[in-house]
Amino acid sequence: MNRLAHHPETAALLAGRSAEGGLAPALEPSTAFGAADAADAARRAVRPRVTDFYGRYGNPTVQAFADAVAELEGAEAAICSSSGMGAISTVVLGMCSQGSHVVTQRQLFSGTLQLFTQVCPRFGIGVTFVDVEDTEAWLAAVEPGRTTLVFVETPSNPTLALADLDALGAIAGPITVVDSTMATPLIQRPLDYGVDLVVHSATKALSGHNDATLGVIAGEKTLVNELWGYAVVQGSSASAFDSWNALRGLKTLGVRIERQCANALQVASILSAHSAVAEVFYPGLDRHRQRELAARQMASGGGCVTFEFVGGYEAACTFVDALHLAYLAPSLGGPETLVNHPASMTHAQLAPAERAAIGIGEGMIRMSMGLEHPDDVTADICSALQAAHTCS
Ligand SMILES: *Cc1c(COP(=O)(O)O)cnc(C)c1O
Repeated sequence: MNRLAHHPETAALLAGRSAEGGLAPALEPSTAFGAADAADAARRAVRPRVTDFYGRYGNPTVQAFADAVAELEGAEAAICSSSGMGAISTVVLGMCSQGSHVVTQRQLFSGTLQLFTQVCPRFGIGVTFVDVEDTEAWLAAVEPGRTTLVFVETPSNPTLALADLDALGAIAGPITVVDSTMATPLIQRPLDYGVDLVVHSATKALSGHNDATLGVIAGEKTLVNELWGYAVVQGSSASAFDSWNALRGLKTLGVRIERQCANALQVASILSAHSAVAEVFYPGLDRHRQRELAARQMASGGGCVTFEFVGGYEAACTFVDALHLAYLAPSLGGPETLVNHPASMTHAQLAPAERAAIGIGEGMIRMSMGLEHPDDVTADICSALQAAHTCS
């Protein structure tokens, strides 16, 4: 079977599994594996990404999911982590040392932002923050010989701003990393642009059912093996059960992404025409300020829509309370439509001015579109918009 000939949706269905044997993935719960003799045990103990030695070093079910993601990303190798943050901290702390320098963006997932603002300084790792959209600033911030890592999140969560993958892939010297969680490999493939590593929170759309906490790192084999060496010491190993759920989820990634993106585009259009809404951030909309870049590097706008209410914090809370179908919950990429008000939820630990500095308004809402019939979600959103309208 020549899998390279298939479309990405088909590849997601087949990835990580052989053509023979059970169609459903196998779950291997074992944390220890017996060796044939001393020489065999010695071989296993030092083999990178070993899956038949000890659970923290690797596990067949966990590695099957990592391999599937590697296939979808066009990567030589991949490893899993216990969460998206496990993957990100493995990359950052596994690659950087005292005196290292990281270039990253201001508009980051809240956990990643904390890692760069609170943990890195404690270890003497310098961090320069630039605006995600400002390609010139990315290039100018890289210090040849000093910068170890360039860490990008595109689209950014929750503002859905984009970084130019072509420009980033062309940066020579430091290791370039893209957190591609918001896109999934069906929408963009950063490694195709020359980026070194791609990381995912597989907790989100890759597993897609809100039943796995999981991260992945994919890229060139030597880099991934080096990171694996650090990961086994850090100990943020992934659960076999969660990886098994993720392997099952991956099979339906194509149809899930299709429905979520279609619903997102429809909702973004409705929001754009509503007077209670000040601005809509959706890369799939023609009026998105980075539409040209989105069309160049993304197959669609993605499953999340972010927007800002004219009526600020109060309007956002009224909207959220008036929804009946959408859940008020963190996370994204699952079967149910989820709504997040960053100012009171994921970014509540920041002061309003700090939120404003990273592009998060007090009346900002991020919706992760689910798999509902589009008429049901749009009806729910339209009636909640009317309720929020009274606040503006
Ligand atoms: C959720 C998320 C993470 C962190 O993933 P966890 O699985 O929650 O640790 C990192 N980056 C992005 C863009 C995310 O959305």
